[in-house]
Amino acid sequence: MIKIGITGGIGSGKSTVCRVFSLLDIPCYDSDREAKHLMNTDAVLRSRIGDLLGPEAYTSDGLDRAYVSARVFEDPELLHRLNAIVHPAVERDFEQWAESQRSPYVIEESAILFESGADRLMDRTVAVIAPEAIRIRRVCLRDHRDEAAVRARIANQMSDEERIRRADYILQSDERELLIPQILDLHHQLLQL
Ligand code: ATP
Repeated sequence: MIKIGITGGIGSGKSTVCRVFSLLDIPCYDSDREAKHLMNTDAVLRSRIGDLLGPEAYTSDGLDRAYVSARVFEDPELLHRLNAIVHPAVERDFEQWAESQRSPYVIEESAILFESGADRLMDRTVAVIAPEAIRIRRVCLRDHRDEAAVRARIANQMSDEERIRRADYILQSDERELLIPQILDLHHQLLQL
């Protein structure tokens, strides 16, 4: 199965791009959503996360995301160790899922495609790029967050320059160039792989 990784910073529009690919009948794997699902449902993962972060990591509703975020925010080494548990589990789940699809190619959407190393499993990578001011406006509108919080998140992520350098294809989601024709053009290129 041909695997395409789609990435982009917060508010770049990667989920929107993936929704268009879904309309073209291309299966899309949302890594963020699936990682959360696995952390709640996979018994081995739950036990390893519990060993790393303590029993407070889970409540009766599942992973206590506020607690986990607070713990790893103040301890980069702990974040590294948590990622070393979660990322391989997501990779395995993605690989299994990809092999069960019937399609010319499949997509993995990940905000941290390059940072997590998942790009090495992909045949091609795509970066969704949008100017910072537009991304901030979109996220403030979508999530009712304040500008400073979005800026802090952007500062914490890989830069667009680095994404552009590393990706095979670029989609401009800047509200100047029409997005759907770019996606259709990319789709036709990917069908040739
Ligand atoms: P995150 O990393 O925060 O999940 P994302 O990169 O997946 O963000 P989206 O959720 O797709 O981004 O888009 C962010 C917001 O911007 C959404 O409300 C979406 O409807 C809007 N948006 C995305 N792309 C465009 C576009 N090309 N034109 C106008 N609005 C857009």
